[in-house]
Amino acid sequence: MSNITDLSKSRYCKGLQCPKMLWLDAYRPEAAEDVLSETIMHNGNLVGDLARSYFGEYALVEFSYQKTAMTEQTNTFIRDGAETIAEAAFMTDGLYCAVDLLHRNADGWDLVEVKSSTHVSDIYVEDMAFQYYVLTNCGIHVKRVYNLHLNSGYVRKGELDLQQLFTLEDYTETVRQKYDAVAQNIAAIRAFVSVDTEPERDLDLYCEQPYLCAYRAYCGRHLPAHSVFDLAGMQAKTKYKHYHNGLIRFEDLLANAKKIKLNAKCIRQIESTLQDLPDAVEPKAIRAFLDTLQYPLYHLDFETYQQPIPPFDDVKPYQQIPFQYSLHIEQADGSLEHREFLAQEGSDPRRMLAQRLVQDIPKGACSLAYNMSFEKTVIRGLAELYPDLADRLMDIHDNLHDLMVPFREQSYYSTAMQGSYSIKYVLPALYPDDPELDYHNLDGVHNGGEASAAFAEMPSYPPEKRELLRASLLKYCELDTYAMVKVLRRLREVVR
Ligand code: SF4
Repeated sequence: MSNITDLSKSRYCKGLQCPKMLWLDAYRPEAAEDVLSETIMHNGNLVGDLARSYFGEYALVEFSYQKTAMTEQTNTFIRDGAETIAEAAFMTDGLYCAVDLLHRNADGWDLVEVKSSTHVSDIYVEDMAFQYYVLTNCGIHVKRVYNLHLNSGYVRKGELDLQQLFTLEDYTETVRQKYDAVAQNIAAIRAFVSVDTEPERDLDLYCEQPYLCAYRAYCGRHLPAHSVFDLAGMQAKTKYKHYHNGLIRFEDLLANAKKIKLNAKCIRQIESTLQDLPDAVEPKAIRAFLDTLQYPLYHLDFETYQQPIPPFDDVKPYQQIPFQYSLHIEQADGSLEHREFLAQEGSDPRRMLAQRLVQDIPKGACSLAYNMSFEKTVIRGLAELYPDLADRLMDIHDNLHDLMVPFREQSYYSTAMQGSYSIKYVLPALYPDDPELDYHNLDGVHNGGEASAAFAEMPSYPPEKRELLRASLLKYCELDTYAMVKVLRRLREVVR
């Protein structure tokens, strides 16, 4: 867009969330932080490309930085009688949109917006309403407006069935009713951004919803070091309410704790931070937790990945597919043995992973995970899929313990955990400045998101890069279970 008042569908949606984003995009782009997820964009492209065939053959408008080239090609396709046009482009009065699919319907057209999600959110409806407005103002007779999104209930069996994979939802009436509101919104956004000096806009829930704003740090630069937004145990909506009531600093929140019904976890986080309290330990509760464990102890951690389009049979859109695990087997004397599994990329990893898991963990063995609900869900999924392994898998499931419990219950509390009990906060709090346990020191893969992306994309890489990534994945997952060993050791030390 060459002019700040020009609006595409994404700029319109941004302007609806907060028009100041558009002003900052124009005048302070360097203040933006990277909040876009490459995985989400990649998924959107994959689904968008596949959905083009939903109605069969289609004519594709080639992408061009020259918008007029795209609108002209669209007009040519319409004149030539194309049944379905992908990326059909329209422009009028500084408004522009490329429609994912335009499908001929007798004397008019059906406008179809494709989404890679499994549901339709409010902002998607606004997006469709903007497109309907632009097309109508370009003289296109839009008969129906649809959202085409993934069907979460679809289970792949053999070839992909596009009619089942996607759900076509009719939003025609909702979108038509928004026509006047779109015109008003466009005028309001344009008026807001057409100023030379930075417009005022205070922080609010719209800074995070429906999408986290790239300027959140810039617009929040006036916040003190410890503010209401740093509280781990409070909902975002409540944080903004306190912020607007002037209860921003930890001191102010604590002084009004009774009045605003501050919960015990928030009070503890605030007091611990303000007074810089040493680690607090409840030995009785920690001992009770430790007494539930038996040796040898199997520290277990899975890595999974998910794809919008099911890559194998018996997989739904976005289903978590386990492809790797690490297992540290700890004896009562503290000695360790490490086992691991990493599937070959490009084929369904689940059967082999399940078989190896039941070989590696004997019947009745005591296993440990950090935040075990995730591991339990993965194991239940495998047990449902492979009835011949179900008994053994459910035995592992039923003997799984959760190392997160002492931290979630605050039996061990450290100021450095910042009110969180995620292992990403707990580990550095228990072992500050320990390079052996620092995920930043790993090569290539540093967190679960990177592990998922690496495995999903591996088939497209050359062999040398694949080998490097496999080595990185193994190191990363090994550190996850080694970290659990160390966390457990620290718990034993503090109650000794
Ligand atoms: S951080 Fe909030 S106020 Fe600032 S531009 Fe983003 S949404 Fe608007």
